[in-house]
Amino acid sequence: MSGPQDWSRRTRAAQALGRIDETTQGLVPPLHVTTTFIRDPAYADWSGSIYGRPDNQTVREAEALIGSLEGAAATLVFGSGMSAAVALFLGLGPGARVVAPRRMYWALRHWLKDEAAHFGLEVAFCDPEDLDALKACVAERPTRLVWLETPSNPLWSVTDIAAAASIAHAAGAALAVDSTCATPIFTRPLALGADVVMHSATKYLNGHSDAIAGALAFARGDGLAARAADIRKLHGLILGPFEAFLLIRGLRTLDLRVRAAAANAFELAQRLANHAAVAEVLYPGLPDHPGHEIARRQMQGGFGGMLSIRVRGGRDGAIAAAARVNLWKRATSLGGVESLIEHRASYEGSQSPCPPDLLRLSAGIEDVEDLWRDLDQALRG
Ligand code: PLP
Repeated sequence: MSGPQDWSRRTRAAQALGRIDETTQGLVPPLHVTTTFIRDPAYADWSGSIYGRPDNQTVREAEALIGSLEGAAATLVFGSGMSAAVALFLGLGPGARVVAPRRMYWALRHWLKDEAAHFGLEVAFCDPEDLDALKACVAERPTRLVWLETPSNPLWSVTDIAAAASIAHAAGAALAVDSTCATPIFTRPLALGADVVMHSATKYLNGHSDAIAGALAFARGDGLAARAADIRKLHGLILGPFEAFLLIRGLRTLDLRVRAAAANAFELAQRLANHAAVAEVLYPGLPDHPGHEIARRQMQGGFGGMLSIRVRGGRDGAIAAAARVNLWKRATSLGGVESLIEHRASYEGSQSPCPPDLLRLSAGIEDVEDLWRDLDQALRG
């Protein structure tokens, strides 16, 4: 008899691993909202559920599904992508050195740059797309963790995960990958040698812009996973059951949504590359993108739904174009079914390495002709 382990990712996600509720025979697992559980009179058995902060059955079901999609030995979901990443970093302990990319999701870069030192962590930044630079940075001092984001926000540069894993492991470091924008449909970092995958599950995994959530999926259920679980429990970082329920519901259509978004992004990237108002299109699916060959190898089935454009009219031209959209929504975030456009430098502030003429586009699943018409008129002005 076949089981979830024999099914494709698409089938596993669509059926949320095929679990049927034993009490009611319901196809949709119930939402477990209780925060506390009855205890045995002697307080002897500590094996079951006791309290809602360390764990929750709806959360466990979301973890089982994400873990299955990533091929993980252990998975934890968190109240946000930021709390997932920070739990991993805190789990390294004071004195640990982390190597991270210069260009990555800005709030996490901000945490690594300005907050991590308060917790005794040492952080070095480099450009990991350049593997020699990564190797040199890792070799400078004993390193516990190399952090990657690929494709990375908002320039969509691509890092070779397998090569970075070899570099990290040769130096005795673990490799963690923020795979939020690649999704488990297009990239499986653990199969490429990474030790941990992180997701802002707020984005594609949920996919409907209605829940903030995060996830860590571990290649092994060893020390790093155990420390992250302790930190989640002791810092109160768990995801609420209702958000876990929404996450599972969103995950059921993950495969369809991300393929539709990636097809739209690919088509728009090609058209935008020939647009008079566009100086440059940043999308790993385009053959002239510097990371295209690596992306072709490590992203299977699509290059993702995220792209950026650099507008010929500079900062003012970019802001003016974004002001003229109707169908695209001028909002931060990404990975939802609706298309979003954002002037990233305005959002990230004066410290941002993001070019001022850049607009970040999160392609949704709408009709690509509608998306193109709206973008084209906005860029023409
Ligand atoms: N990583 C990436 C690539 C992101 O885009 C984001 C959020 O935008 C995060 C991490 C942080 O996730 P969250 O907003 O769920 O805390």
